Amino acid sequence: MKALDRALEKVPRRVVSGERFEEPKPEIMVFGKSRTMISNFADIARRLNRNPQHILKFLSKEMATAGTYDGQRVYFQGNFARDSIEQLLHIYITRYVVCPICKRPDTKIEKSGRFGTLTCEACGARSPVRPI
Ligand SMILES: [Zn+2]
Repeated sequence: MKALDRALEKVPRRVVSGERFEEPKPEIMVFGKSRTMISNFADIARRLNRNPQHILKFLSKEMATAGTYDGQRVYFQGNFARDSIEQLLHIYITRYVVCPICKRPDTKIEKSGRFGTLTCEACGARSPVRPI
């Protein structure tokens, strides 16, 4: 889990000033029955201020498939409905990005032992996050 901390340190701190947080929308393409791509994955990770690998780990686990990140896009093995990917990303944002107290996305995940803590830079709340 040290890798996550290191990766997070490299991500520039982003302060969102608006009251409403607009969730990024995944741009999804399905190739036949074998591959599903999210073309704007790097942008999503940047907007969420999260390590792309952390998001990918969550999605891969929930979708029960393998995913590959090439620095911009993510490819999953298999054919997945747009709606289910959008729904999973929404769950990720709810669990790992948005502060449960003030509902703002200005948060970071800090690891402590097996479990992480979601620390909110807007209101200072610290909430436990479940491991992926
Ligand atoms: Zn907060």
